[in-house]
Amino acid sequence: MKIIIVKCLVDNYSYIIYNERTRVAAVIDPSDADPITNEIQKHNLKLKYILNTHHHFDHVGGNLKLKQKYKCKVAGYENDKTRIPEIDIGLKNNQKWKNKLFECEILHIPGHTSGHISIYIKEIGALFTGDTLFSLGCGRIFEGTYDEMFHSLEKLKKFPRNTKIYCGHEYTKKNSDFCLSIDHKNSKLLDKINQIIENIKNNKPTIPSTLGDELECNIFLRSDDTEIQNQLGINSGNQIETFIKLRDLKDNF
Ligand code: ZN
Ligand code: FE
Repeated sequence: MKIIIVKCLVDNYSYIIYNERTRVAAVIDPSDADPITNEIQKHNLKLKYILNTHHHFDHVGGNLKLKQKYKCKVAGYENDKTRIPEIDIGLKNNQKWKNKLFECEILHIPGHTSGHISIYIKEIGALFTGDTLFSLGCGRIFEGTYDEMFHSLEKLKKFPRNTKIYCGHEYTKKNSDFCLSIDHKNSKLLDKINQIIENIKNNKPTIPSTLGDELECNIFLRSDDTEIQNQLGINSGNQIETFIKLRDLKDNF
């Protein structure tokens, strides 16, 4: 199986996954139909599925047009049936869903929205995190609570370290500036930032990241780190308190 990273709208990423032999394809979070259609035609693919991580327009904007054109099935979180356009298949928390292309594991990870899910394809070690976990950041909390977002990220931390992280936006450089403002002694972070700058200079995505990198460099996954707690002036050792502080600081960064 192969993954095509498709740049959409301003800074969104959609992902086309396909089987090189059968040419069967699925797309995750098609922001917009046209860039997806271009890739489908260019690579001579048969689009069978759309999967959505959440209902925001920049993740479902291509659903209707693509479904009309390719007669593909739309899959998304079952409790968001009223908000995901053209949905056919309702996915549940902890469900393993097998289609004609791959088997994937669904986790409900609320916080950014109440119905956000992640999609893990074990066969290729790929985790699609939408707007919950970004490279070096996490999503804004729109519908959920800090507590929910914190626990959603805790769930994602449990995947294997070499898992490739495919997120919904190219926010990595901006996120790295924030990480650096608090975690400037982290040499792993400094190395990663050099790589990020190199990629951007060459007009390449900074995605995928790996979970291992994120565990070491993304401060939103490290609210248990005493160094970070000290930087924020938190003496209680309380992880949620640390996470809230980080999220609030980032909202105003
Ligand atoms: Zn969103
Ligand atoms: Fe988004």
